[in-house]
Amino acid sequence: MPIVNRIADLHAEITAWRRDFHAHPELLYDVHRTSAAVADKLKSFGCDDVVSGMGRTGVVGVIRGRKPGAKVVGLRADMDALPIEEQTAVAYKSTVPGKMHACGHDGHTAMLLGAAKYLAETRNFAGTAIVIFQPAEEGGAGARAMMQDGLLERFGIEEVFGMHNYPGIPIGEFAIRRGPAMASTDSITIDVEGVGGHAAFPHWGVDTILVGSQIVNQLQSIVSRNVDPVQAAVISICMFQGGHTDNVIPQHVRLRGTARTLSPKVRELLRKRVREVVEGTARLYGAKAELTYATGYPVLVNEEHRTAFAAGVAREIAGKDRVNDDWPALMGAEDFAFMLEERPGAFIYIGNGDSAGLHHPAYNFNDEAIPYGTSYWVRLAETALAG
Ligand SMILES: [Zn+2]
Ligand SMILES: [Zn+2]
Repeated sequence: MPIVNRIADLHAEITAWRRDFHAHPELLYDVHRTSAAVADKLKSFGCDDVVSGMGRTGVVGVIRGRKPGAKVVGLRADMDALPIEEQTAVAYKSTVPGKMHACGHDGHTAMLLGAAKYLAETRNFAGTAIVIFQPAEEGGAGARAMMQDGLLERFGIEEVFGMHNYPGIPIGEFAIRRGPAMASTDSITIDVEGVGGHAAFPHWGVDTILVGSQIVNQLQSIVSRNVDPVQAAVISICMFQGGHTDNVIPQHVRLRGTARTLSPKVRELLRKRVREVVEGTARLYGAKAELTYATGYPVLVNEEHRTAFAAGVAREIAGKDRVNDDWPALMGAEDFAFMLEERPGAFIYIGNGDSAGLHHPAYNFNDEAIPYGTSYWVRLAETALAG
């Protein structure tokens, strides 16, 4: 059972939606144009209910099957773009300076819309399919915002499924991993306060550049010396700001970075050790360090049975040998993890072919993936809600 025939017919229409979203990227919660277009389309498909404004700019469509059934399944896509200047030559290139769909959320939104159109047309299932379009996946926790607005309870969602395109996996193939599949991500900001002064007289002050450098070094001992070597963890300091010239020791430097892991226990260890290392190192040099440790997305955990189920649906669409159900875990993060904390479900990757990487200025979602992704969604809903 390859691509659903009717979906093949919709390919051109879904592609046109995708390219329209691509040309008009919006960031985080400011996805007003996109969410309005999504809501309009869902209404035009004849969804039983369309709710806008969940999690500020999220949209939900309700589609009831024509067979009796009480089960409710949620299918989720993300709508936001990134603050990147696009460097592609496509005709539908971003029309907004400094913003582009570099993560393929334009494709995710279009594919789920295509599925909604098909499901509302055919309704060949028992129970209810809920299509969820969230804002602010890229660091804004839009999934959590929709949940805080009552998403799961209001629609009685029992299971949730998500999908992300993946450069390097061939078109028409899927990949998934059971259990912890993507990392928790916490953000670290360190403000080091010393005593600034003349570069020729360092003994008059407390050198924040030296203290900041020592903190960067010491932090690297956490993963190598405190975390069990068979567990995954990474700490990256990605910003080091301080000083303005070559003969003044700055009073203040700021470091920022990220701490990621695949286990809640290791996550707690990182949090504890980062504080000890930052404060201890600063004290050693007579400086003060203020640490802001902001909790980000949780570990994304694919529930065992739904993962097997999702892989089975993908095999139906793609073919038996074109679904890898032992894909490696990644230290990237996804806010769909919030939904998977509350409901069982699974997050699958769909091949984007040989494209530039995610978040690269030359990245583009591959429209050839549309029939596979949309067929996956409709088969998943029909199978989960078979009655
Ligand atoms: Zn992204
Ligand atoms: Zn993404």
